[in-house]
Amino acid sequence: MASVSFRHVTKRFRGGDVALNDVSLDVADGEFMVVVGPSGCGKSTLLRMLAGLEEIDQGEIWIGDRMINDVPTRNREVSMVFQDYALYPHLSAFDNMGFGLRMQGVALSEIAWRVSRAADILEIVPILDRKPAELSGGERQRVALGRAIVKNPRAFLLDEPLSSVDAKLRGHMRVELRKIHRRLRATFIYVTHDQVEAMTLGDRIAVLKDGQLQQVAPPTYVYDHPINLFVAGFIGTPAMNLIPVTVSGRKAKGSAIEIELPYPSHVDRAVLGIRPEAMTDRLDPRMPTIDVRVEMAESIGQHQLIYGVAGDDGIVARIDSRAHVSRGDRMRLGLDIRSVHLFDAQTGQAFM
Ligand code: ATP
Repeated sequence: MASVSFRHVTKRFRGGDVALNDVSLDVADGEFMVVVGPSGCGKSTLLRMLAGLEEIDQGEIWIGDRMINDVPTRNREVSMVFQDYALYPHLSAFDNMGFGLRMQGVALSEIAWRVSRAADILEIVPILDRKPAELSGGERQRVALGRAIVKNPRAFLLDEPLSSVDAKLRGHMRVELRKIHRRLRATFIYVTHDQVEAMTLGDRIAVLKDGQLQQVAPPTYVYDHPINLFVAGFIGTPAMNLIPVTVSGRKAKGSAIEIELPYPSHVDRAVLGIRPEAMTDRLDPRMPTIDVRVEMAESIGQHQLIYGVAGDDGIVARIDSRAHVSRGDRMRLGLDIRSVHLFDAQTGQAFM
């Protein structure tokens, strides 16, 4: 296995805008790195350049101690798992997994050994003689992973591999993928637009927007300390409440909220960021509060989501499900000041 390093990588498609702009990203040997961002932000292009399917305009890509800009795809020793798996319908799971090795002329005994080892890791030994049409979505996905594993790659590149399985199976496969990663101790670079996948899978996540890396950090760090307004709004469901405020000294005032900042701010227009779970109906006299008119209450088991309006702002709060709340109610919610974020309204950068 190997580390992977993108150094100041830029990609422009002919006639198009910049798809990737000066991207630098270091993935450690054995790390599970998730690259996440909205559609069109350049995620697939990043993977395709690493795999050698797309040329690099500027910058360098390294795998281990080798710069691979000019190394042909077949010699890069990476395996890519695509969204649609691309399995051969007329071949059994075993033959699908061994196909690439046969093409390379690897001895049959060696193929049999590598396929059974991969099937063992993936727990698909009993289905090896079945064809793709006789497999469930999750099994097909494992066969596609198996085909990557048998090549003993230095890094696995996964391009939205769970997007074509249904929601329930996706949750299950996320757990399975983590287990497989642990067993293989391999370098995984996983691309997705789904922030839940990113949060649950990654050792670290790299948030990409319009071809530019925004933040690279462990998922909980990104959640607790989003570097700018984009990351704050993109990571977390329901999304963080973002409330425009004017600031004067240590006072931040919005249309329905006024809070004391821990230190004076240097900007006069800012955006307060409050996660839904940083609001509570159990008031403490020291808490700043916000008055919310409830538009909808939605139970999600132990918690309920309150959708409402406060002044000019839409608000989502997550509170205990025992409180009886209905449409039209007025509620006073307290804010956990320690989890309030503040962003410069002009640049979007976080400063609290
Ligand atoms: P998605 O989640 O929708 O797959 P993505 O984040 O993977 O999106 P890319 O496929 O990497 O995005 O595309 C990044 C940008 O580059 C987009 O604006 C896209 O239109 C553009 N692009 C991708 N491939 C080409 C190409 N071959 N020629 C021209 N422009 C391209």
